[in-house]
This record gives sequence, C-alpha cells and structure tokens, in this order.
Amino acid sequence: MSINKPIYILGPCAAESREQVLLTASQLKDACGEIPFIYRAGAWKPRTSPHTFQGVGEEGLVWLQEVKQRLGLPVATEVATPEHVTKALEAGMDYLWIGARSSANPLAVQAIADAIGDWKLVNGNFKGILIKNPVNADAGLWIGNIERLEKTGVPVIAVHRGCNHQPCWAMAHQVRLARPDIPMLLDPSHMSGEAAKVPELIQKIEELGLDGAMVEVHCDPKSALSDNAQQLTPKGLAEIFASDRVSSPMGGETKELNWLRAEIDELDERLWGTIAARMEVSERIGKWKKAHGVAPLQPERYQQIVEKLKIKNEELKDKSLSTDFMLHIWELIHQESLRKQE
Ligand code: PEP
Ligand code: MN
Repeated sequence: MSINKPIYILGPCAAESREQVLLTASQLKDACGEIPFIYRAGAWKPRTSPHTFQGVGEEGLVWLQEVKQRLGLPVATEVATPEHVTKALEAGMDYLWIGARSSANPLAVQAIADAIGDWKLVNGNFKGILIKNPVNADAGLWIGNIERLEKTGVPVIAVHRGCNHQPCWAMAHQVRLARPDIPMLLDPSHMSGEAAKVPELIQKIEELGLDGAMVEVHCDPKSALSDNAQQLTPKGLAEIFASDRVSSPMGGETKELNWLRAEIDELDERLWGTIAARMEVSERIGKWKKAHGVAPLQPERYQQIVEKLKIKNEELKDKSLSTDFMLHIWELIHQESLRKQE
C-alpha cells in the first residue's frame, strides 16, 4: 500500500483533555485547508522523569476516535508496550508510532512488532507504524528496528527526531542510504525543543528530499502539560505552510550534496561547542592557577598535550591529520586559552 506524500503528522504532544484534543484538531483542519494530514496525540507518555505528566492513558484514545469520526481525520498515537498496541488498534488508530526511548530498546520494539503481527489482519484501518530514531545516535539500531517492524508486513516510516534537541544528520543520512525505500519524516519539534526553530528546520524536508514531517501543534502551547516550549499553534503552522519554506510537491529524491552539507554543519556546530566548552574549563583552571600563584604558561604541560595528540593521530592511520595542521590548530587553541587565563 502506498502512502500519499508529503506525509504530515500533526497534533499535540499529549492528549490532555477532550476539549484540547478536539479543539486542536478542528483548528488544525482549518489551518491546513487542502493539505492532508494525520492527527497525532500521545495517550501514554514515556517521560524522562516520573514526576511529570505521564499521559491520560486509554481515555485519550476515545478522544482520538471522536476526532476521527467527527472530522474524518486519520489518527495516530504512541505505543510502548504490546498492551498499548492492542488497546490502540482496538480503538481504531490508523497509525502507531514508537518513540525514541522505546526505540533504544530492541526487545521493546520486537514485542511491539509481535503484537502488531497478531493484530494487522483484525484492524482493517491500520495503515502504518512509525519508528523514531533512538535517543542515542545509533543508525544500526534504528535500521534494526525498521527490519523488526517490516516483518509484520505493515508499512514502516522512519522519523528523524534527533538526539538531545539536536539533529543527527550523519545518522539519518546513513539510514537514508541504507534504506532509501523507507519513507523518512522530520520531527523538527523534538529535534529542537523550541517552536521558534521549527520553521528553519522544516526547510530541510525540501533540501534533503525527505518525505514529510511530524510536528507538534497545540491549541494553547503555553498551557501544555508536556513539551510546551516546542509546540506551535495551528496558526503558527499555517504561517509556515503559507511561506515558501515548504514547497510542495517534495522531490522525494535524495539530495546527496545537501545531506553532506548538513553533516558538515552538524560537525561544525559540535566543533564549536567542544572548543567553547574547552575554553570554559580553561578559564576555571586559570582561576585555580591565580589562587595558587601558578603562571598561566606551563610549557611542559602543553608539550604533554601535544605528544598525546600526536600518538592518537598516528593511531588514526589513513584518517590521520597532517601533523603540521594539527599542531597549528592546537597552537591557536592554546594561545586563546592562555589569553583567557591572564
Ligand atoms: C512524542 O512524539 O511526543 C515523543 C514522546 O517523541 P520522542 O519519542 O521523539 O521523544
Ligand atoms: Mn512530545
């Protein structure tokens, strides 16, 4: 069965109340106009902390059923256990998704796949299972999960939601190259954790030839019981659709140079972050030195650092950097570090 593209999965992080689920759905329907979408809301929320909102559970499925019946929208919810699969499919969900925390556990994914296998012939509505990338950037684990799920015979869709509120383009690129046949969506909401960053990230769908997006949208984001900083209003989403940030129809083809550039941007950001973090530790060392009457420049310590790096660099063999280049960079870093310790 083929799914029309682009695929948009829109709705609140969590089902919180009947009013919130129905109001968000109807506002989204108005905001999207002719653009088809699947309505999402999490009934069970696998939250990091047990002290936060854990979802309303099964009751949320009843509200999603109502959205389906009244507004004619296909509906989706998250599953983390075989019991969730049974309850969600009994309630007529069209799509299910597996979140990043469950995706890090192959036994959980296998148990969900087995439960789907038992159900797919019973629920004629069931159209697909979405698998987010695991919370850690492990392309192999994500691909393994896709393979576990596709054995059920139900269409599988990958969702790149990044790690620690950052995109992981290298991981997503690896999965795209390994499985170009599996649609891949972008989840700019969990990828950034900030509603203001969603419009720019959404442009990546077109740039990278992705197949659509899962975006969190809430009728009143600031009152949301989970992920309140990252949810858009339906109006905010409509503005993105109306701008030229999303041009339809999608290319669908993989745009190799753009993927490689996304990987470089990700690495640059990490390099920058690592250098900034190093400078911060260096400043703390500077304070210690001042307090203990030690001069900022300690030539033997710098020599030690450089010698260790040279050994590491040689271990890289054909991937090693030229020694001159490496020494040049560390000389610059060291100078700046000394400047911060003055
Ligand atoms: C969600 O989609 O609301 C969710 C919990 O996502 P993730 O598993 O990506 O954190
Ligand atoms: Mn969420």
